[in-house]
Amino acid sequence: MSRELEEFKPQNENEVTFYSCGPTVYDFAHIGNLRSYIFADILQRTLKFNGYNVKRVINITDVGHLTGDQDAGEDKIEKTARLESKTAWEIAEFYTKAFKEDLEKLNIIEPTIWAKATDHIEEQIDLIKKLEEKGFTYKISDGIYFDTSKIEKYGKLARLNLEGQEEGSRVEVNKEKKNPTDFALWKFSPVDGQRQMEWESPWGVGFPGWHVECSAMSMKYLGDTLDIHTGGIDHIPVHHTNEIAQSESVTGKSLANYWLHNEFLIVSDGKMAKSKGNFITLSALEEKDIEPIVYRFYALSAHYRSKLNFSWDSLENINQSWKKFKKKFIDLGEQTGQVNAELLEKFTVDINNDMATPQALAIAWEVFKTSVSDADKRATLIKFDEIFGLGLAKLKSEQTDIPEEVAKLVQEREEVRKNKKWEKSDELRDKILELGWLVEDDSLGTKLKKK
Ligand SMILES: [Zn+2]
Repeated sequence: MSRELEEFKPQNENEVTFYSCGPTVYDFAHIGNLRSYIFADILQRTLKFNGYNVKRVINITDVGHLTGDQDAGEDKIEKTARLESKTAWEIAEFYTKAFKEDLEKLNIIEPTIWAKATDHIEEQIDLIKKLEEKGFTYKISDGIYFDTSKIEKYGKLARLNLEGQEEGSRVEVNKEKKNPTDFALWKFSPVDGQRQMEWESPWGVGFPGWHVECSAMSMKYLGDTLDIHTGGIDHIPVHHTNEIAQSESVTGKSLANYWLHNEFLIVSDGKMAKSKGNFITLSALEEKDIEPIVYRFYALSAHYRSKLNFSWDSLENINQSWKKFKKKFIDLGEQTGQVNAELLEKFTVDINNDMATPQALAIAWEVFKTSVSDADKRATLIKFDEIFGLGLAKLKSEQTDIPEEVAKLVQEREEVRKNKKWEKSDELRDKILELGWLVEDDSLGTKLKKK
């Protein structure tokens, strides 16, 4: 696709339709997953910045995503339910909530519609029926499958080379499938056991395959052709390829006019993944006293189409640089002046050029060095923050929030400490604690933190 926003043409100029593939809610999201939602958030903000209204859907996969690659294995949600001795519904609800909390901590704008797979079983069955009527499906012992040999350009998005392609040697080949790339639309519940999540269907009791929900729900809420579809690059070869196959076979129209995918977050041993056990969550950052927003700042420092190499050292560097940025911003004072047109123009050129966030951040740093007034600097940076989403306008000097009573006690404590009256100092510390504030002494002096 063209990467210049000027060449972007939505179908309806008043509203851009935008679909992002969401999480499978069987565990906490790791920061590699979250990179994808930060990227899509920047995209949504960029559209708004340019005057577009956006109607956006994010789906929640709470059924049908199996542990095996080829529609085999256990349902991820039911597996966690078994391991945690909870119901599949409880697991899905718990991790959906955790996911939404993560997005909130990262200042990610909520979608217009959250679409949950289990709320749309009927729509998925309808879609499979349509595919069946058109002759794209066949039945084998464990479910209804999509026959990928029935469409001409299967794999066009991924430019898959189908000749000679075989199912991965890691996974057991399903010998009943007609083609290695065929995928499940509806899976039957196992004969030897009952699933927690299962539904009646024209083909028997079971559950939808992973890919069906995105086709069914995007069609329901956003129409046959989306303006924009996003996801991580790992979605290209299978998930998005199969969404295209399903949707386009039903509608005869293109599923999306623009596809945007973000690159991975890389750790020393490769891609961050749950299956590899090398994943880091936002809570792990918080445990190290790093604000979640620092991760957003970190993600902005790399272009979404570049791999981002994660290390705790680099995150700590970004943490320091965020603290510096924050301080400089707070030091501008609380008066907001006029947005500087020249700086805004430079910034807009970079953002509208395929969302060049590292360059845009560099301009933000430059703002501090320019000769415009502090109030105008502040206004300009708040304008930039419509894209960055760092919550700049709400930043205040941490010191100003301290109640007078607490401030007095802290001052008093400083005095007694100078005179080495440690007992009295501890007494004052406890009093301050009772008022909800924590006093910490280190080499740099005394710090005050909210309990
Ligand atoms: Zn999807």
